[in-house]
Amino acid sequence: MMPKGTYYKALKARVEVVDGSINDLLWDLAVHKYALQRAIDALWELDRIPKKSQVHQMLYPMLRSYGFRAHVARNIYTTALALVKSAKENNGSKPTIRRMSARLDYQDARIDINNHIMKMILRDRWYTLKLVHRREYIKRFKGLKWKEIHLKYCNGALYVSIVFEVRYTPYTLRGDLALDTNLRHVVAYDGSSVRRYRTRFTDALSKKARAEELQKKYPKRWRYNNRILDRIRVLHRRARNIVTDWCRKFAKEIAIKAKGYGYAIVLENLEHLRENVVKNGGSVVWKLSLFAYRKLQEAIVAKTIEYNVPILFVDPGNTSSICPRCGVKLTHTHRLAVCRNCGYVADRDTVGAVNIWLRALYAYAGEPGSSPSAPAMNDETRGSGGTRDEGMKKGNQKYSKVIKSINQPKPCRTHNYNY
Ligand SMILES: [Zn+2]
Repeated sequence: MMPKGTYYKALKARVEVVDGSINDLLWDLAVHKYALQRAIDALWELDRIPKKSQVHQMLYPMLRSYGFRAHVARNIYTTALALVKSAKENNGSKPTIRRMSARLDYQDARIDINNHIMKMILRDRWYTLKLVHRREYIKRFKGLKWKEIHLKYCNGALYVSIVFEVRYTPYTLRGDLALDTNLRHVVAYDGSSVRRYRTRFTDALSKKARAEELQKKYPKRWRYNNRILDRIRVLHRRARNIVTDWCRKFAKEIAIKAKGYGYAIVLENLEHLRENVVKNGGSVVWKLSLFAYRKLQEAIVAKTIEYNVPILFVDPGNTSSICPRCGVKLTHTHRLAVCRNCGYVADRDTVGAVNIWLRALYAYAGEPGSSPSAPAMNDETRGSGGTRDEGMKKGNQKYSKVIKSINQPKPCRTHNYNY
């Protein structure tokens, strides 16, 4: 189960200076870069890495003399210290700052998300910047608290990444909604009824297939001919957009539905998918499904955090090929899955969802046969009793790995620019 706590999600956008001069801002950033490099140079010469308080004594007056605000000065020497420390620990060479960038805390910036405006200061001048991005995208961050801002200048444009905090406190679940994904459908099972949602993955697939056809038709030329190359790129981009748009829409719908019923969402743990892709020779279908399933999982995780829906991950092995009743391998005839052992018959699409639902039940509600309305396990109950079996503990470790592998939302620590 995904643990409750604070998660981070970043708003990334290009910005334009609307009040103040861009040249002044770039000059401030240039001084920032220079000062950071000087701080690194000074720390690099020392035989031993000093404590933070010593670094403060050593560098703070110098940084203030460049005109930096107190917090900016602190950020500069903290960054310098972290860079020097990691370089020395890894026996690396002295870090060199190549990019103009700066980190800002809330003392040095204001954000007005409604008007897409951000104000910031590094030295003695405030600048007003406009966030350039789609309205719907920026709207998603409304009402959230922000934590830090990274500003950078590259390829002739200014970009910001604003890190927002999202509190995730999942409600107590009253049941599970298991989701099984294939290219055509997402099949949902809640313990009593099955529902199919049509995906748009096959539409994306046909775009990808057209791109591959073009590559086959012009096996030598496509790489060098701009017209063909452009068409291939457009097709790939459209395929990607179809997948991400649909995933986001579906994730929202399913999260709202789960919340309405008090359900937890149960998904397969997707870690082993990559191995399958290699096994399947990396065909276009497999590459797309890998991408699509990942995107769907990311989108669902992001939405469950937004709506405080509990989310569980279960072991994906054989979910579509074994009998949910007796565990024997199923035989498939046309669209049906039949168990020769106990006589279970079901539509082959639904078997996966039923098995996922059962696995969540066994793993989290205790022994087979206990009621699905067992109380949700939160951090307290998980840590206290010695009653949980080993399997579940192991399971949890696995899930935390999954969560780490999910890009969105990111924990703040991993959110660094490459200096
Ligand atoms: Zn059976």
